[in-house]
Amino acid sequence: MYFHLIGFFVTSAPADRADSLISDLVLTANETLLAKGAPAGKGAKILDWKIVDSKIRVEIESDRYVRAHDAFIRLKKPLAEILGKKYHIGIRGVEIESFVVKFPSENPVKAATIPHVSKIEFESGETSVWMDIGESEIQKRIPDRIITLIEDKITAEEYGGKEEHWSLLWASEEKTILYREDPTTELVKRNWIKHGAARGQWIYGPEATSVFRAFERIVVAEVLDFLGYQEMIFPKLVSWDVWKRSGHAKGVYPEIYYVCPPKTRDPEFWEEVADYYKVTHEIPLDLIREKIDDPIGGLCYAQCPPFWPFLQGKTISDETFPVRVFDRSGTSHRYESGGIHGIERVDEFHRIEIVWMGTPEQVVEESERIQERYRYIFEEILELTWRKAWVTPWFMAQEGLTGTSGSEKVGTIDYESLIPYRDGWLEFQNISVNGDKYPTGFNVKSQSGSELWSGCSGVGLERWASTFFAQKGLDRDGWPSAFREIICELPEGFVFL
Ligand code: ATP
Ligand code: ZN
Ligand code: MG
Repeated sequence: MYFHLIGFFVTSAPADRADSLISDLVLTANETLLAKGAPAGKGAKILDWKIVDSKIRVEIESDRYVRAHDAFIRLKKPLAEILGKKYHIGIRGVEIESFVVKFPSENPVKAATIPHVSKIEFESGETSVWMDIGESEIQKRIPDRIITLIEDKITAEEYGGKEEHWSLLWASEEKTILYREDPTTELVKRNWIKHGAARGQWIYGPEATSVFRAFERIVVAEVLDFLGYQEMIFPKLVSWDVWKRSGHAKGVYPEIYYVCPPKTRDPEFWEEVADYYKVTHEIPLDLIREKIDDPIGGLCYAQCPPFWPFLQGKTISDETFPVRVFDRSGTSHRYESGGIHGIERVDEFHRIEIVWMGTPEQVVEESERIQERYRYIFEEILELTWRKAWVTPWFMAQEGLTGTSGSEKVGTIDYESLIPYRDGWLEFQNISVNGDKYPTGFNVKSQSGSELWSGCSGVGLERWASTFFAQKGLDRDGWPSAFREIICELPEGFVFL
């Protein structure tokens, strides 16, 4: 990587008399100040400097070690000292005339709309990015963020887009497969489920609901009560502040259901909308668009982030650890792409979210305990054909990143089930050790001051149902006996004429 910057130090008077002092400073700075912290022979260099009226113009180049923009700012203080002491000249500010960073890249990078990027060019294996920045942008580390962003784009491009990591950890024996059809067809035929009026939404009839509730009872008895979890109610409207702290603000935009409040709740302001509808029986969308405010956030996406403001800024007593809580108080919503199919991939779904927090050891151990309970359920109660894989952690995937966390302990395990009718596998839940991401992001501390980690696991009820129906069909008599005992009799739902 190559950096080149031309900038000015604006002085309170022309600095011509300080000419030789500046010259000395530049010579020594090139050897010391601008090489500090860089490997031998690396760092930044002042290529040229001159006094132009009440400004000192410098031209700096660098590699990635002492980046040219940091070098420029490093110079300000020693320069102010020599000018001030002897000549009583002050530095009033800095201006940057041109700043370009060159990256090796196989293809052009799409970056034209990045803030503070004024121009971008690609030529023979190199992308050049011109930035329009000043001192406050450098202080806020904006150039560094732009560089990271462009490097991430280059890496993503070289890996051929978003290939997520996947490696098998464990696979169950093959269990009896009782069904080979697409269960959605049969579920609809029997009126157990029916499409809701909204995209990717289903209405669950009494039979399907009783299966969902049986799954919940299993999770509550075998995982949550067994391990001592407490139920909480997490919000289902998530504000930007939460997604900034959870990292979702970095990438989740295409999948959010946005939430806009009215500009005012004054009935008079809305009267024309209501009147329009009453007369035309059509919803005046253009009018509504004018009367609603900017989105304040979106509907629940990952379920655990909106829990964290409960702990935000708190110091938690040591005897509280490990914290063990769960939420099953409402729906999650995602604007899914094309592949919406049956109840496998829906825009509105139901999930039990389990969250725990403690020391790194406690959090890793808890994850193992929960995994053991899941194994018991899938083996002994539901008798599923399933497997576990180490994948790109959900919090990285949802920030648009690929790969793994780099730590063996921090990351996500996906649970996948065999879907016989299409001879494929479906992620039906996951479990993650999220490292210090959430306690740090939401500024949570422990009494003892020891490091805090957290973990979470999302049990997707639609995915459990898809799995179960796909492998075991809809006929209760064929279902595994342990499950039959839990569900008791199925309710008799609707018969349509
Ligand atoms: P997929 O790769 O199938 O889209 P994901 O990686 O987006 O899944 P996560 O973000 O890890 O899923 O969500 C955790 C759990 O939430 C999933 O294991 C699944 O049980 C459930 N889930 C996620 N998206 C959906 C959906 N669109 N419909 C039903 N359940 C879902
Ligand atoms: Zn979570
Ligand atoms: Mg998804």
